[in-house]
Amino acid sequence: MRGLMFSDYQLMELRDDLPAPRPGPGEVAVDVAACGICGSDLEGYLGSPGMRARRKPPLLLGHEFAGTVAEAGAAAPVTRNADAEDPAGWVGKPVAVNPLVTCGVCAQCKSGATNLCPERSLIGLNRPGAFAERVGAPLSQLHELPGDLPVWRGALAEPIAVALHATELAGPVLERDVLVIGGGSIGFLVAWTARRAGGRVTVAEIDAGRRRQLESYGFRAAPEPTEQAHVTFDTVGIDATRRSSIEHATPGGTAVLLGLHDNEGSLAFYPIIHNERRVAGSFAYTATDFGRAVRLVGDLPGKLVARHPLEEGAKWFEALAGGPFTHAKLLLEPAS
Ligand SMILES: [Zn+2]
Ligand SMILES: [Zn+2]
Repeated sequence: MRGLMFSDYQLMELRDDLPAPRPGPGEVAVDVAACGICGSDLEGYLGSPGMRARRKPPLLLGHEFAGTVAEAGAAAPVTRNADAEDPAGWVGKPVAVNPLVTCGVCAQCKSGATNLCPERSLIGLNRPGAFAERVGAPLSQLHELPGDLPVWRGALAEPIAVALHATELAGPVLERDVLVIGGGSIGFLVAWTARRAGGRVTVAEIDAGRRRQLESYGFRAAPEPTEQAHVTFDTVGIDATRRSSIEHATPGGTAVLLGLHDNEGSLAFYPIIHNERRVAGSFAYTATDFGRAVRLVGDLPGKLVARHPLEEGAKWFEALAGGPFTHAKLLLEPAS
């Protein structure tokens, strides 16, 4: 099978000799239509300090994907917690796949906070990913796409789910000022979901090209935050932007942190305590968020998405690592 291997830091290699997935009981193999390059994949590729421990080559990355179910494993044995759906019923169906595989039985999973499951694993990190012709996935992760929707659009569900989850965590934003720090993929999508929820959104983004793009979609954009907002989002994840997101929350407001660039840093706490700001970490998405995101994939302006052959993947990783990219998302598509 052909796939784009993360062979070493700053080295993506197109390979033709990768083992094709063999779906086990309760699993399917999906022919990949499209897979998005995530900021976390790029951080891994660059070997950035925060990601070095989490994404170690060699790895088959790729967790934002959609495709068509090509092959089914055997029916899973009936357990107390799962019904015995036959994977064969899925063959031929277009699907978006929730790559965050969770246990379904722990307290977090049962409460709906599947993103916090201690047993969670990610397709494209702990399991082979979708920068390849074919990828394996458990049945529980499949979401059927409407037949009239281009299948590649399903690959947008994952990053939209990340944005939806963060927006939801912030609480109601209807007719409130919202500040999003960072206008990359996730920043754009958080701005988009917050506006859908009725917020008045400003995006702080240093790159002029990205600001123009944001403005062309009707967002206010500025090189740096100037005014306070009821809710702020840091989609970057360095000291300066985390600090800024807290300090630009109004007294009693909320700063949602989702950027993952750095793990450690230093923050001032008086601005949090003296102004009763709430600081919330937002991680990935729940299974419910993912299902909601699947219903939105058709609404995102198609012009925001750049689609290129998987075969050119190494070049595109290099290009994205080289600086800001104005498309909100770049998808790699295996040649059919
Ligand atoms: Zn992602
Ligand atoms: Zn669990």
